[in-house]
Amino acid sequence: MHRQRNAKIVATLGPASSDPDTIRALFDAGADVFRLNFSHGSHADHRQRFDTIRAIEAETGRPIGVLLDLQGPKLRLGTFAEGAVTLAAGDAFRLDLDRDVAGDAHRAPLPHPEIFAALVPGTDLLVDDGRVRLRVEACGPDFAATHVVTGGRVSDRKGVNVPGVVLPLSALTEKDRQDLEFGLKLGVDWVALSFVQRPEDIDEIRDIVAGRAAIVAKLEKPAAIHSLDAIVAASDAVMVARGDLGVEMPPEQVPAIQKRIVRACRKVGKPVIVATQMLESMVAAPVPTRAEASDVATAIYAGADAVMLSAESASGQYPRDAVRIMNSIIAQTEADPYYREELAIAAGAAATLASDGIGIAVRSVTEALRIAAVVAYTCSGYSALRMARERPRAPIIGMTPHMATARRLALAWGVHPVLCPEVADVAEMTDQACAVARREEVASAGDTIVISAGMPFSVPGTTNLLRIAQVG
Ligand code: PGA
Ligand code: MN
Repeated sequence: MHRQRNAKIVATLGPASSDPDTIRALFDAGADVFRLNFSHGSHADHRQRFDTIRAIEAETGRPIGVLLDLQGPKLRLGTFAEGAVTLAAGDAFRLDLDRDVAGDAHRAPLPHPEIFAALVPGTDLLVDDGRVRLRVEACGPDFAATHVVTGGRVSDRKGVNVPGVVLPLSALTEKDRQDLEFGLKLGVDWVALSFVQRPEDIDEIRDIVAGRAAIVAKLEKPAAIHSLDAIVAASDAVMVARGDLGVEMPPEQVPAIQKRIVRACRKVGKPVIVATQMLESMVAAPVPTRAEASDVATAIYAGADAVMLSAESASGQYPRDAVRIMNSIIAQTEADPYYREELAIAAGAAATLASDGIGIAVRSVTEALRIAAVVAYTCSGYSALRMARERPRAPIIGMTPHMATARRLALAWGVHPVLCPEVADVAEMTDQACAVARREEVASAGDTIVISAGMPFSVPGTTNLLRIAQVG
């Protein structure tokens, strides 16, 4: 059984989707990758979800991707003496590094020395998802005197964002390091890094991960957008994390940034996920708003590899309906006669890598001849991503002898990952490709398929072979 659509669905698991029947229902409804969000839940919770996913994979024979999302350096206020306080525009408000100074209507602890190190007069701090805005008037290494620009309620441990400033912070906290070690031992396929600021953040986590998983950069800070191409180059995939992005910069700038990020990723053929609030109203309602349906479709027309559900599937009342409706919006959008035209417009710049030559050739062949399927024989997944970059009309089978590769490819546009035995030569590869195409019901006897690979087989990053074969 392969899905009748190209773009993929990432579904976040949480309290509303932890029992095996619900996770299975989400998979059946269309979830290709499951996200374990380590901002919430215990290791035991995540282990149980992980084991359930692997059991479903064994039952269905379909490789499923698991994405571990690290919380990252989410900055928070300390605590208040008497709960919440309400700030009014124009009020003076002081922030102290010392976490033991209890908060009140005039001050609050902010136990993050890195913030004070980066502040200058005029810097804005946003509290509680941007609801309250403070502007720095004077500051030192352990305090900041601010005035309230936008008032509102603030209370214990509310999140703080400092947009437009590169903080001298590692993207990995002590908690992240422990979560990462736990997840890698469990065997997750993707690791997402939150609040990435610079390409070096990716290098840092890559050293620790050491090939055990692939890395997603979550783009949710203006600083990351400034070094977009370098971050895309350093990562294996990218997430347009619109939740925090829309706090750190005005929400009206998010659509253009989303388009920019999707294009930057498509240009180089790295998977890109559009995330957050896609079907937000479905947290509490069984149908989405028209605007939400349109938002999902917009990401699909732009050629995003995947769209993501957060609270909709993790803690909402209709997790299964959210996946089902997302699946249906994708399918309907891809069936639109104008879909191909739109997809081409958002394709980004022409290829510059030699290995894209084969992808371009494969796309031309699928446009000129009747091709039932493109089979990418791939050890690292690289060849399958080169094919996906071209967004060919025929289904792509990512045929690989490595389960880890098959699971990672669950995130990539149009790629149907299939496990196969290791092959020794082109003849064996061709036989396998034909057999797999028939078994997966994308081709029948007499159909033509194109096969791509890199020779020698075991060296990643060498897509240099195109074979046209007739299915026997
Ligand atoms: P989060 O990331 O859900 O982990 O915050 C996504 C986002 O900020 O959009
Ligand atoms: Mn975020």
